[in-house]
Amino acid sequence: MNKEGGINWLLNKIHSMIKGPKSAEVGIATMVSLTDMAIANNTVSIILDGPIARGIAEEYKVDPRRSASLLDLFSCDMVLWGIGMRPDTSLAAACGVKLGELGGVCVDDRMRTNVPHIYACGDCVESVDKLTGKAAMHLFWEPSQRGGMTAGRNAAGEDCIFSGSLGIYLTHKGGISIAALGKTEAELNPGCGLILEDRREAAETTVRPVGRKKSDPAAADGIGRTKTIYRRLLFEDGYLCGVQLLNTLDDIDLFFDTIQKNALRRDGKMRLQKPVEGVESMSVTDAVRAMRKERRTVTVYGLPDMG
Ligand SMILES: Cc1cc2nc3c(=O)[nH]c(=O)nc-3n(C[C@H](O)[C@H](O)[C@H](O)COP(=O)(O)OP(=O)(O)OC[C@H]3O[C@@H](n4cnc5c(N)ncnc54)[C@H](O)[C@@H]3O)c2cc1C
Repeated sequence: MNKEGGINWLLNKIHSMIKGPKSAEVGIATMVSLTDMAIANNTVSIILDGPIARGIAEEYKVDPRRSASLLDLFSCDMVLWGIGMRPDTSLAAACGVKLGELGGVCVDDRMRTNVPHIYACGDCVESVDKLTGKAAMHLFWEPSQRGGMTAGRNAAGEDCIFSGSLGIYLTHKGGISIAALGKTEAELNPGCGLILEDRREAAETTVRPVGRKKSDPAAADGIGRTKTIYRRLLFEDGYLCGVQLLNTLDDIDLFFDTIQKNALRRDGKMRLQKPVEGVESMSVTDAVRAMRKERRTVTVYGLPDMG
């Protein structure tokens, strides 16, 4: 890798742009991110860039712990952002198992592949999005383990159905939490879609260990700051079908449960929840209150649907 000199050129170029401690931090982060994108291996990126980062940190007085955490954060995160999550389906393809349009293993609603006696489940399979009915790759733990249970039970002679999966995105970056469930605005049916949103400023909670002075930068961090809390609910015909949240996870279990119950059942018609009456003239808070009132039962996740 070092022989061709490309990575060394890149590292030297970044090194030459560094002028002080702040640009040194940016330089370390950029260096490891670019190396990682080039070779798609965070461990190798850290090994390659580590000694250079140590040199930069010493030269520009960056705390070694800060430098190490930048290497760690930007290498690992860039693997995911750079190449995304892809199923490794080489073994399945070698066995003659059919792959779908998204590159995952094709299975039916019993997790059977096209090859008799071969079942598939987890991150490598394409499932059906419960809300859109389209093929989807929701690479999460919940559908993986539910699909695994479905495949196992069917392989053992039972008859159970995998009812599809939901898109769920949760992340926390730079002090901002972001959550998105179900449909996005682009997927909303224009004929019956409705969006409710609200936004408010909230004071950030700070934690100050006893004995630390307020003037201590670590202790003072965040004091007096506010953050924007944003909520967006997407409805179709009064049924909640999507949620996007910024800096709040309040009621996320209610939203997840309601969206699951609002998805059309396998008979193509029945939904488990009633629509929110008069949602078009409600605030987000009122709509949440109405859904909370309606939610009488709690779904137990993780159990495959018995046929
Ligand atoms: C960094 C990261 C963060 C995540 N965070 C979340 C999260 O917060 N919430 C969430 O719901 N999901 C999260 N996920 C996704 C979640 O981990 C996966 O959806 C889930 O683990 C998929 O389960 P699986 O059984 O399909 O695959 P895995 O859990 O990857 O299990 C596959 C197993 O097969 C083994 N294996 C592979 N090839 C072979 C072979 N040839 N022979 C023998 N064994 C083999 C592997 O070693 C592994 O143990 C995250 C994933 C990553 C990578």
